[in-house]
Order: sequence, then structure tokens, then C-alpha cells
Amino acid sequence: MNFILFGPPGAGKGTQAKELAKELNIAHISTGDLLRQNAALGTLLGKEAKGYMDRGALVPDELVTKMLGERFEKPDVKNGFILDGYPRTLNQAKSLGELLKSKTMNIDFAAYLDTSDAVIIQRLSGRLVCKKCGSNFHITNMPPKTVNICDHCQGELYQRGDDKVETIKKRIEVYKNEASEVLNYYEAQNKLHTLSADKEAKIVLKQLIYLAIHPHDPLKV
Ligand code: AMP
Repeated sequence: MNFILFGPPGAGKGTQAKELAKELNIAHISTGDLLRQNAALGTLLGKEAKGYMDRGALVPDELVTKMLGERFEKPDVKNGFILDGYPRTLNQAKSLGELLKSKTMNIDFAAYLDTSDAVIIQRLSGRLVCKKCGSNFHITNMPPKTVNICDHCQGELYQRGDDKVETIKKRIEVYKNEASEVLNYYEAQNKLHTLSADKEAKIVLKQLIYLAIHPHDPLKV
């Protein structure tokens, strides 16, 4: 099963994708995570990408697409994958189509996690991320047991540089400008399903698992 999770920043794509990857035993590919890893390691790509990321702007397509191509070389994608944060532009959607075609792979469906602006700002401005394992927490919605310490690996929690209210607003705007074309692209292929992600994460997860098992049966979602 190969699918894409769409949604504005704060829709819960990352949290849902991690759970789904475990549940379905498939790879979770997050271009945001890959870019942050590169930035933390100080690779050439990371250095180029960091300025864009800190401003909440998109990293140029060719950089992200090349990085994704390298990720697709790893054997775990053969089992299936969830794409989180890619494609973000029509150009990326077309590049993804070509990349998958060259590997005789396909996208089974795309899920759009529709989320209101107020919910996005509340979620992201309170988000805390573990420096070590990448787990997400939230100051009020999902606080860690010990202040600023990860429940899973005892790593230190931090606020992402782009999770400041002004940058969040910019990211929402960037998302809205780019998303409609990409969503229309998958809609035209009859592959797009829209779910409300303002609901509790557990409910959204159940709906996504159902969709992954019955991708052609959207009425019950
Ligand atoms: P995310 O973790 O998905 O919210 O991504 C964080 C940041 O990484 C974004 O604001 C962009 O700067 C960059 N980024 C992630 N994925 C992409 C992509 N597919 N295309 C361009 N930039 C991206």
C-alpha cells in the first residue's frame, strides 16, 4: 500500500504517519524530517535548505526531489510507503509520478486532512519535538510526563524554529497557495479522499487505517 498524506502544517500528518507506518508495517517518508536531519548534520543540502525552512518558505523542488529519489533507493519502500510533506507543488507531483513509474510503483490513494486555521495555530504554537527520537508532544494537548523531557527516550524537547505564530501563518498561506493544484491533480485521478482533521487524533487514525485497507470504499470513512 502506497499513499500520500496531505494537509496543512499542523493537520497531524507526522503523528498519523508514524502510527500508520507501525500499524501497516510500511515506510514513513517525511521530506520535512529528511531536510531537518540534513540541516542538523550540516550537509550541503541541509545548509542550502535551512534558510528556506526558517522562513517558512518551500525548499526548491529540485533539491527536495533529488533527496526523495535517494530515499526511494532504500529497500524498505518495497513494502509500501506513506509520503508526508511531499508532493507540495504540481511540479513535485509530476516528478513523483515519473519517479514511481521508473520503479514500476504507484500511488494507491491520497488522503487530505482538512484542518481549520485556528486549530493549526493552537496545535503548532504549542508543539514540542524530541531532539533525539523526533516524537511530538504538546504543551497542553499532550504534555510530556516530565517538563521538556521525552517520555520515550528521555531526549530533550524543543520548539521547532518554524513553529512561531508568525511563521505558522506564513506556512498556512504558502500551503493554501500551493495545495489546491496538487489536490486537483489527485482528484482528477480519482485518488483523493478528504477527512476532517479537526477531530481527535485517535478518530482520524481509525479512519485512515480503514481507508488504507479499503482505498476504494470511501463512503464508510
Ligand atoms: P514539514 O515538516 O513538512 O512541515 O516541513 C518543514 C519545512 O521543510 C517546510 O516549511 C519547507 O521549508 C520544507 N519542506 C518540507 N517538505 C518540502 C517539500 N516537499 N517541498 C519544499 N519544501 C519542503
